[in-house]
Amino acid sequence: MVQNTDCLIVGGGAAGFFSAVVCGEANPNLKIAILEAGREFLTKVKISGGGRCNVTHHCFEPARLILNYPRGAKALRGAFSRFQPRDAMAWFERRGAELKTERDGRVFPVSDDSQTIVDCLLAAARESGVILRTQAPVLTAEVIDSGFRVALKDGQLWETRRLLLATGSHPTGYRLAQALGHGLEPPVPSLFTLTVKDPRLTDLAGVAAETAEITLLDDQGKPLKSLQQQGPILITHWGLSGPAVLKLSAWGARYLQERRYQCQCRVNWLPPQNPETLLAELLDFKSNQPRKQIGAYCPLALPKRLWQSLIQFSSIPPELTWADVSKVQLRRLALELTQGVYQIRGKGAFKEEFVTCGGVPLGEVNFSAMESRRCPGLYFAGEILDIDGVTGGFNFQSAWTTGALAGRAMAEERRPR
Ligand SMILES: Cc1cc2nc3c(=O)[nH]c(=O)nc-3n(C[C@H](O)[C@H](O)[C@H](O)COP(=O)(O)OP(=O)(O)OC[C@H]3O[C@@H](n4cnc5c(N)ncnc54)[C@H](O)[C@@H]3O)c2cc1C
Repeated sequence: MVQNTDCLIVGGGAAGFFSAVVCGEANPNLKIAILEAGREFLTKVKISGGGRCNVTHHCFEPARLILNYPRGAKALRGAFSRFQPRDAMAWFERRGAELKTERDGRVFPVSDDSQTIVDCLLAAARESGVILRTQAPVLTAEVIDSGFRVALKDGQLWETRRLLLATGSHPTGYRLAQALGHGLEPPVPSLFTLTVKDPRLTDLAGVAAETAEITLLDDQGKPLKSLQQQGPILITHWGLSGPAVLKLSAWGARYLQERRYQCQCRVNWLPPQNPETLLAELLDFKSNQPRKQIGAYCPLALPKRLWQSLIQFSSIPPELTWADVSKVQLRRLALELTQGVYQIRGKGAFKEEFVTCGGVPLGEVNFSAMESRRCPGLYFAGEILDIDGVTGGFNFQSAWTTGALAGRAMAEERRPR
């Protein structure tokens, strides 16, 4: 038997649920269903933000907000003027999910438990009468006179006037989009740590530099100014992590993937210092504190263990007094502190959040309604699109925004196709 709906949503994640609820609330007459391949809905919301769910980011200016999207910024500019973090926060709070903003702007449920967000979305969908089906993987989709027909793995057929693909980064979603006439920007990972095996970092796991700068180098060893990030860097057992590294992995996602995650990066542990300004400062210390041991006395805003490791790497015996350290040695140290080159040997996992860059090309979608320009009646929301943000709640925000716009558009009554 064929099941019929007005709006059929493939994918029961953040974007699918948000669009279903927005659509159902805007037009209660519609029959809306979500088909989810997995056993549970909203599994990524559940594990997100280390189990706390970083719902969005406290940034209410679309022009500033889009700076956090390596891909999708231009398309999201207008979308954020229609539904932005302030709207998402109000939406959740109206439904009883209290939120709080942390000092760095990240927004979490007051409960510090992602289940609050999962429960809120599930309750809202039930209240709107959305039909919910798990273990319902959609394998194929085709255009028919009245709209679309999709087939599930078990052979079940669903027909619908409007179809929304909200399948995240799952390959079957891309295949469905392609079958309905869309292209595909090749999917590659974003938001990951960098694997760096280097004697300078050995035994320093857990050490963090509060403000550092990391720059990718091109194949000739020249710094790529467009692939440079500043912020905290954390040394791990496997290499480098922390906000600056994660942002770099997002902006450099394609560059790094093309090089199979094998290239060089340069780390400045003390920006905005450069070798010359830092040498001048080190020479000042040398004349002011000549009796102190260089290994025991770090005059810079740098973790002591990192300082000691870099002194050794610069071939300066740590027991030397500042007076006995030569200018040549200090120049070497200044270079090491501001322009140390490290070999990236792979990418690591970032457990709190990782996303996929690539997906349905944005030029093929009308962003005022999230409707396909190639196939009327077909909509997209969330990570299936070639949009991804840096870490901080920006990825969910793009799911809420594109979901809300798709939901509103699908709710509008218009002549069937
Ligand atoms: C570990 C982790 C932590 C994260 N933490 C954060 C965070 O704190 N803040 C933040 O902003 N972002 C976070 N993200 C990113 C965020 O989870 C995603 O950007 C967001 O979930 C995308 O939502 P979506 O609905 O587009 O896709 P998804 O959440 O991936 O949902 C897609 C759904 O579609 C289903 N599906 C796929 N194909 C089919 C099919 N053929 N038929 C039926 N169903 C199908 C999938 O099973 C899935 O449930 C995190 C990601 C990870 C992996």
